[in-house]
This record gives sequence, structure tokens and C-alpha cells, in this order.
Amino acid sequence: MSLPPIRARVVLIAALIVAGLVLSMVWAGRIAERHAWVERGQEARGQLELYAQAIHTLVERFRSVPALLALDSDIRELLRSPDDGTLRQRLNERLEQQNHAAGSAVLYLLDRQGNTLAASNWREWSSFVGNNYGFRPYFRDALADGAGRYFAVGVTTGIPGYFLSQVVHDEAGRPLGVLVVKLELEALQREWVGQAGTLLVADSLDIVILTNRPAWRFRYLQPLSDATRERLVAARRYAEQNLRPLPSQRLERLDEYSERVRVDGPDGHRDYLWQRLSLPEEGWTLHLLQEPQAVADGVRGYRLGAAGVWMTLVFLLLFLAQRRKTRQIERRNRSELERLVQARTEQLRTAQEELVHAAKMAALGQMSAALAHEINQPLTALRMQVGSLRLLLDNDRPDDVRQGLASVEGLIERMAALTGHLKTFARKSPAGLSERLSLAHVVDQALQLLAPRIRNEQVAVELALTPEAEVNGDAIRLEQVLINLLHNALDAMADREPRRLRIRSRRAGRDWLLSIADNGGGIAPEHLDQVFEPFFTTKPVGHGLGLGLAVSYGIVHDLGGSLEAGNDAQGAVFTLRLPAVRGPRADGQQPAGQHARHFDTSQQEQ
Ligand code: ADP
Repeated sequence: MSLPPIRARVVLIAALIVAGLVLSMVWAGRIAERHAWVERGQEARGQLELYAQAIHTLVERFRSVPALLALDSDIRELLRSPDDGTLRQRLNERLEQQNHAAGSAVLYLLDRQGNTLAASNWREWSSFVGNNYGFRPYFRDALADGAGRYFAVGVTTGIPGYFLSQVVHDEAGRPLGVLVVKLELEALQREWVGQAGTLLVADSLDIVILTNRPAWRFRYLQPLSDATRERLVAARRYAEQNLRPLPSQRLERLDEYSERVRVDGPDGHRDYLWQRLSLPEEGWTLHLLQEPQAVADGVRGYRLGAAGVWMTLVFLLLFLAQRRKTRQIERRNRSELERLVQARTEQLRTAQEELVHAAKMAALGQMSAALAHEINQPLTALRMQVGSLRLLLDNDRPDDVRQGLASVEGLIERMAALTGHLKTFARKSPAGLSERLSLAHVVDQALQLLAPRIRNEQVAVELALTPEAEVNGDAIRLEQVLINLLHNALDAMADREPRRLRIRSRRAGRDWLLSIADNGGGIAPEHLDQVFEPFFTTKPVGHGLGLGLAVSYGIVHDLGGSLEAGNDAQGAVFTLRLPAVRGPRADGQQPAGQHARHFDTSQQEQ
């Protein structure tokens, strides 16, 4: 059965973490153990050197004893005449005294055949006197090389000892016999019993001759060949001692002198730190074995430490991975959001363009209707005038004809004014175009354009315009603003009777204010903040686009002014604020439109 990928990954990661934990603990344990072993090894080496020094000092102290005695004339005398009973007794006593003074175990004299002529222990049951030790290597070494040293178990006493021998020469330098001192190292061995660790002294055959662990004495560390065994029996070196092995297995070599060893001893398997140090003069090797118990404590600490470090590392990695993932998701979300916003903006722009287009088309429609109405009237009047003029001509009434022509002229003038207006309106206003404008004139122009509607709906227009109100701006765009405001006012008053439109201008500091107030009931308070937003409209579908005020607001801002909406007791009041033009005109001319006629009701009724 295959796991789902996410779960499989989680299981895999958990397994890796656990495996890493175990590995790091094992690894740290190994390192700590090795470290501890090496440290203990160094300590042990110091200890071993002290032991070696003690053995060396002891042996050296006794080595001189037979060498000095070999010069004694009585000894030579006895060797020459071994049957001299008095001399022999005297020497026995001398050796006894010397042995006592030196603190050695036995001091004795052998003739050239190895027979004991005199011995310090002549009084005891185990007296060496009369015994032959010609088979002992220390005897033969002394005859051959002048001196010998040999560890063996005493054949007579059964007590192990270190035998130091020295040849005795006659005046001509010929060997007469051998002087031997036996040291019993048991005292030394007893001293070691309380010491830490197991101390072994092995001879050249790797047989343990001294140790602070009695059960291990006379065990061999290296296997013995049959020939060696036979030789040992011949020399009766270890007497009746039963030689047994001490099996061991090297686990790890730590350095030149130390290793970790598993010993299969009399009390079972045990691991030891095993150190060696050779004593070249004696041909022995000192061994120190230490138990690893103390090492284990330090290792546990290291393992826990490694586990802690590993887990910290794992958590850190997990945290970083999580953070990276979160960032990736955030980045992806952000770019997705940006893409969405871009797409929406694009859609909105298209929609807006479509709406603007629709608004333009609607405006065109309205304008066409207004134009048709505006032009139709004078055209009908003209047709009638032309008919009556023809009649007057037929009746030969030239005066009346002249009068009629003047009225025709008036009608034509009106139509010309209208088209002139349209021409200005159609002219594309270049951005940034700015001229000195009379507010009264701009209002007048706007009212002209809306004249048919104002007339039809019987709106009373009250004007209170200050002739000197002058601002800088673009006439057509400002007119557009006023037309928008007037349209809205007319829409608002559609259901009212009577309809009153009040337009007034006044100075406020450095600005001119132009307000347009109606009695259409005003703007609902909750809509006051929204009326300038694009596409905000309360008009039924097909009537309002909600762009008029937004566009107007933009235009007024471009001109450096502001547009505010508010209510008074009767209806809405829109206030246009524009910076006043400072100073008189430089060219002395009147501002644009100063000459234009003012809008008045009498004209509306024409
Ligand atoms: P539209 O006229 O196409 O609705 P506008 O931006 O010109 O768009 O006007 C937005 C809205 O502001 C209108 O729908 C209306 O609710 C409100 N409004 C504007 N002028 C007036 C006014 N004089 N009286 C009452 N409400 C008005």
C-alpha cells in the first residue's frame, strides 16, 4: 500500500530526524569515549612510570650487594678450599649478617659446579647449603657474562624471588664461583594491592610474575610454545606453579602504549584500558589495566549534549523551511492579487470608456433635440415672414416690406448667434488654455444653451452677478461645468411648482464664489459625500450616468478652484470657488463676454 505523498514525506522526515538523533548520539559517545580513554591513558602512563621507577630503584639497591661481596678474600678462600669447615661456618654467619643488613631474602655462595657452599639461611630448615643450583640460568649467566638476573620461584622455599648473581674471580681473573642475592618482591606486591587498577609485571615470556590481583599471578599473556614449556620445566623456573592463560582480545588501539582490551578473566568478561611499559634492564613489561566505569559517566553527558545540538539544528531547519514556504505562498498570493487588480482595473477602464462614450452619445442626442427645437422656431417664423413679405411686395407696400425684412434679419442673427455658440462648444479646448473670463458672461452663455428647456419648464431664473467678477480659465470647460450644474438643478425641480433658479456671485477673500441654488428639495444628507463620485446617480436608468459632477469637479480643480455641494431650506446649493484675477487688464480691453447681453426673462419669452 502506498502512502499519500504528504504523509509519506512527513514519515520520511520524522525517520530522518530520529536516525540523525541516534547517529549524533552514537557519534558523540564515540568521540567522548575515545577522548576519555586517551586522557585516562595519559594518566595511567604517569602511574606506570612511577611503578617502573620503584622496581628499578629496588633492584639497583641490591645489585651492588653481591658485586661488593665478590671482592671479599674470605669468599675466595672458601671457594679455593671448600672443605674448610671453620671458614664455611664463618662465612655462613657473615652472609647472614650481610643479608640482614641489606634487607634481601637470601644471600648465598655457589662453587663452580653450582653447589651451595654458604648461605645466609644456614640455620633454617629451608637452608640452601649443600643444594645444587647449577641448572639455574642466573648461575650460568654469571659464569659466562660476569652477572645474571632471573626471576623464578624458589625450588627449595617455593617462594618467588628475583635472583641477582655475580661471578667471583681469583687474582688471575678466572671464575671461582658465583654469589647470589635473592629478593622477594612480595612486599612490593602487597603495597600495590590497595592501588587503583590492576598492575601486572610480566617477564620476558609474558608470564605474570607480580600483580596486585593474586588470581592472575603466573598466568601467561601470550600463548607458550611446547619448546618453551619444556625449557621452563627444565629450569624449574616456576617450580610446581600451574601456568594458565589469561585470554584477551584487543578491541581498539588507542596509541603506541595503550589499547582497549576485553579480558576473559577468572571473573568473566571485562573491558579494560590496557597500558604497557617495558623495563629493558630486567626484560620485563609492566601492565596497568583500568576499568572503563568512570569513562561512561562523561560519555552520557556528551551524548545528551549532542542530542540537544541535533534537535536545535533540526528545529532551526524546520523553522527556516516553514518560513521559506510561507514567504513563497505570500509572494504567490501577492502576484495573484496584483494580476487580479490589474485585470479589474482594465475591466473598469473599459467600462468607464464605454460609459463616457454613452454619455457623449446621450449629450449629442440632447443637444440635437435642443438644436432642432431652437432652429425650428426661427425657421418657421422665417417661412411665415417670407410669405407675408411676398404678399406685401405684391400689394406694393415697400415700407412694410422694409420693416418685415428687419424682423427677418433679427431671426437670422439669432440663428447665427446659436451656431456661433455651437462652434465654440465644438472647438476642442487645448489643455492648459487659460484666458481672462467674466463669470457673468460664462453664466450667460450656459443659460443661452439651456434656454429652450428653461423656457419650456417655466423656470424663474434670478441672477445676482457682479460684473467685475473675473477669473482665469478656459471658457468652454467652465461653461460645461455650469451646464452640468444647471441641468442637475432643472432635473431636481422637474416635479416642483414654481421652479426657481438663483445664480449669484460674490467675493470671498482672494476668490470669487459662484453659487447655483434651486428649490428641488436638495440632496439627501447621506448622499452629500458621494455626489462627486463617478457613476453616483439617483436618477432612473437611462436618465443619469453619474458623471456630470465628477467631470465638473475635475475641471474646477484643474482651474485651481473647488466645487462644493450643500443644501439650503429649499434645495441644493452648488458653490464654485475660483481664484480672482488680480489687477486691471493690461490691454485695457474688457474681459471676454463683457459686451454680451445679460440673460433676462423677457428674452426667454420670445
Ligand atoms: P447624474 O446627473 O447623471 O445623476 P451627476 O454627477 O451630475 O450625475 O449627479 C449625481 C447625483 O447628484 C444626482 O444623481 C443627484 O442625486 C445628485 N444631485 C446633483 N445635483 C443635484 C441637485 N441640484 N439637487 C438634488 N440632487 C442633485
